[in-house]
Amino acid sequence: MRSSTATATTATDNSPAGGDYRYTGRFAPSPTGALHLGSLLAACASFLDARSHAGQWLVRIEDLDARSRPDWAGKILRTLDTFGLHWDGPVAYQSGRTQHYRAALECLRAAGETFECSCSRAELVRVAACTRGYPGTCRSGPRRAGPTATRMRVEASRTIRFTDRFQGPYTCPAGTLGDVIVRRRDGVFAYHLAVVVDDALQGVTDVVRGADLLASTGWQILLQEKLHLPQPRYAHLPLVTEPGGEKLAKSRRSVALRPERAAAQLIATLRLLNQAPPAALERASVREVLDWACAHWNPAAFHGVRTVAADGTA
Ligand code: GLU
Repeated sequence: MRSSTATATTATDNSPAGGDYRYTGRFAPSPTGALHLGSLLAACASFLDARSHAGQWLVRIEDLDARSRPDWAGKILRTLDTFGLHWDGPVAYQSGRTQHYRAALECLRAAGETFECSCSRAELVRVAACTRGYPGTCRSGPRRAGPTATRMRVEASRTIRFTDRFQGPYTCPAGTLGDVIVRRRDGVFAYHLAVVVDDALQGVTDVVRGADLLASTGWQILLQEKLHLPQPRYAHLPLVTEPGGEKLAKSRRSVALRPERAAAQLIATLRLLNQAPPAALERASVREVLDWACAHWNPAAFHGVRTVAADGTA
């Protein structure tokens, strides 16, 4: 992969271990619905982490999935703008970058790292009751004719370890992950492949995102290894739940974003991250809230926190 494009070389030179390290962060929403309080927290924290490191902050629309809609992408960008989260450079759209994912897939295939899998989701759900992860059914060839997904082999004996900037040391036994899908049965390049390719080609040094992706970061690190791509630093944020601790439902009023209350909702987001904004900030503008938050950004205040409950008052 590194030799296949000139941009990949640039990305390698900008890795955290490289001599000319400059922070580049990103927010990568999937345009399948409007942003809610949970996604505002991810956008806001990745923005503040980048800006407090005098870094760049990119926005990438992850629109490979058929559920993505251009009108949602537009709405997400307008919401970021209203909340003062202004990004650097042009917005990247994954739907326009498939040549990079194809090249990465070809690298994996040529290195013998992949196999075709004919298992349907329903079949896998049935066997998952007795095995953990993918049971290896098609490792020596698809079980039947018809459409296949492409999977990358994951050696079960491997253990992936990394230090998450917000969650601390993290250990991921590869046996619990299983062989990762890199191209879906419908031909769409899978999220894990696209995200590692884009993070590398865009020179992303720091991934700041929700803790729902903490466990599957192991797959992304394995993909980076096999594709000879640099590994960014990872930092996983607490996931926002409903006030009662239930999984977040986008439709609930407690977590819906209200642009007319952008400054207040930014303050509520900062409180969820234990950033302790002063009471004097209650009447401040969006710009003033973000300036304060950037100057006082303190990830240690939520170190090791995996979930936070919205209080429903924002
Ligand atoms: N597109 C993913 C989402 O909306 C985020 C991917 C990432 O941050 O790595 O959940």
